[in-house]
Amino acid sequence: MSNRTFTMIKPDAVKAGNIGNILQMMNAAGFKIVAMKYTKISLEQAGKFYEVHKERPFYGELTEFMSSGPIVAAILEKENAVADFRKLIGATNPAQAEEGTIRKLYATSVGENAVHGSDSDENAKIEGDFFFSGLERF
Ligand code: ATP
Ligand code: MG
Repeated sequence: MSNRTFTMIKPDAVKAGNIGNILQMMNAAGFKIVAMKYTKISLEQAGKFYEVHKERPFYGELTEFMSSGPIVAAILEKENAVADFRKLIGATNPAQAEEGTIRKLYATSVGENAVHGSDSDENAKIEGDFFFSGLERF
């Protein structure tokens, strides 16, 4: 079990002014920031990041959305980080997300769902390495 996960505050939540509220929830849940940046990814980079979903019908919509505006990318640290963070963000579809989760509070649809959270230790490492060099982690 690893103690790190990777997250993005997605363009919808950035546009809606929810960066501060979402970071506050991550802090309150005990996640420590290891790396963080405010950035914007190209359509091509979004395509690479979400390559596992290439064959899914929503791939075009997803990559266009993720490259539509600035995001906040971060590596977070906590015991049992991947699983605990998935609990904090809630179900992919906000209509099914539990009360008190980030997506229940801030996501507007299954496509525009406010935050990303890695789904495994292996992907947390791959995704963190996609955005951050060793010099950007503390
Ligand atoms: P994420 O990987 O962003 O944390 P997730 O692991 O909960 O989300 P995935 O199945 O990995 O969900 O889907 C990746 C993203 O693709 C979702 O967060 C959402 O933005 C988008 N997506 C998933 N299913 C749909 C769908 N049916 N329609 C539109 N977009 C979708
Ligand atoms: Mg996922």
